[in-house]
Amino acid sequence: MNFQNNVFLTAGADEKSAYLSMMEQTIRAAAEAMTHDDAYAGMPPYELRKALHVDELLPPEGCSFEEILSEVKEKILPNLVRPMSTNYMAHLHGSALLESIAAEIIIATFNQSMDSWDQAPAATEIEVEVIRNLCALYGYGEKADGVFTSGGSQSNLSGLLLARDWFCNEKLRYDVKKYGLPGNFRKFRMYTSEVSHFSMEKSAHLMGLGYESVVKVPVNSAMQMDIKALEELIEADIKAGNLPFCAVATVGTTDFGSIDPMPAMRKLCDRYGMWLHADAAYGSGVILSEKYASRVNGLAACDSITVDFHKMFMLPISCSASLIKNGKYFDALTIHADYLNREEDEEDGYINLVNKSMQTTRRFDALKVWMSFKMRGREGWSELITRCIDNAAYFYSQLKATDGFEVTNEPEISSVVFRLLPENGSSEDADTMNKRIRRELLHHKGVVIGQTVCNGNVCLKFTLLNPLLTCEKLDSLIALMLSLR
Ligand SMILES: *Cc1c(COP(=O)(O)O)cnc(C)c1O
Repeated sequence: MNFQNNVFLTAGADEKSAYLSMMEQTIRAAAEAMTHDDAYAGMPPYELRKALHVDELLPPEGCSFEEILSEVKEKILPNLVRPMSTNYMAHLHGSALLESIAAEIIIATFNQSMDSWDQAPAATEIEVEVIRNLCALYGYGEKADGVFTSGGSQSNLSGLLLARDWFCNEKLRYDVKKYGLPGNFRKFRMYTSEVSHFSMEKSAHLMGLGYESVVKVPVNSAMQMDIKALEELIEADIKAGNLPFCAVATVGTTDFGSIDPMPAMRKLCDRYGMWLHADAAYGSGVILSEKYASRVNGLAACDSITVDFHKMFMLPISCSASLIKNGKYFDALTIHADYLNREEDEEDGYINLVNKSMQTTRRFDALKVWMSFKMRGREGWSELITRCIDNAAYFYSQLKATDGFEVTNEPEISSVVFRLLPENGSSEDADTMNKRIRRELLHHKGVVIGQTVCNGNVCLKFTLLNPLLTCEKLDSLIALMLSLR
């Protein structure tokens, strides 16, 4: 095969036809793989591992695209999990809206890199516009800024890093960027609820502060941060000579979808001179539901916000943003390189987004938001998000009304945590039974659901991020679970 015809899309007719043919065959294969609504074909790990064992990834001689695609069709596509299925409700990872898959083709084809303007002229300007609009959407003012990231974990690290640097620079008058952590770094404290995401601890470790700097605040029965406890913990730390620098409001906890009380946290942060970060990796999508947006309007009061578009917003992985109320604090992530983001270029109006980012080479993910927001508009988006939250409310009320189920908390977003109770006279204990039911659903029923622990009990979890899910379908899933008791 002549390599010149099938390496890149160019202006040449042969290359264009190779591109079109490969794309078309691939899209057809994906569409044809969707033959039913099961979320998973069921193969257990050891079987799948055996089936996908690769003797030689790099054979002496290659093969045609058709051959390789047929192998993908045979081995890989049937065994992928299908987040678009109404039988998939395991995690916050959902399906990808059609227009955003189309956007991915453009992103990959033109492969812009967002670090400097000369690698991504239009893409840079689009990201800037998208960020400006997002800041307005979340109620931020003129000074706000933001950047796309690889995900909520990176957005959290970015927000927390800015919080730490802000505290060192403005409260301790210490240049942490230049000198590293100050001598009293072991006294730094950040506060986050006991059901917050583990990226808090990971970030603390990466920032050189360690897990010990993360104070876990108890939650109330609705799984929201107990504000009285937060205040007491801060007071106790100050008495002990520690340095509270940041509080984190989780806006949509990973397991329960609960939302921490942002206005009350804002007051405490102001009183004690602390940064307020919002981990809205999950709950950021609620802003687009006309019916439920008020549940997250406290976001405007936070100093930084983690927004994840590959969760509630249903865009392909990866797609996430880090928004900062006062963009000047991005200075923590700015460093000039002679070959990339020269200061002289910036003076002449070239925007180099690497100045706000932990990544250097970075994807043009903003295009997915741009296309999807414009195409569906406020109304279209509101319907999608509202349906997910309505579904969770319905599922919760059905479980409450059905014998054999115990539900943890009333959903604020779209996650419902519950467990089945064994039938009278059953010898199986509840934990074992719930674990067994999840596995049976996964391997024998094509249904993928979540599992977690709440108050020491094994619980099951439905994360309802599929607007195609109907009440009838939810009823049938309740019946299916009862039948497996
Ligand atoms: C998913 C999640 C994260 C991590 O986001 P990624 O995009 O997976 O890196 C952080 N915080 C919360 C609350 C989450 O639900």
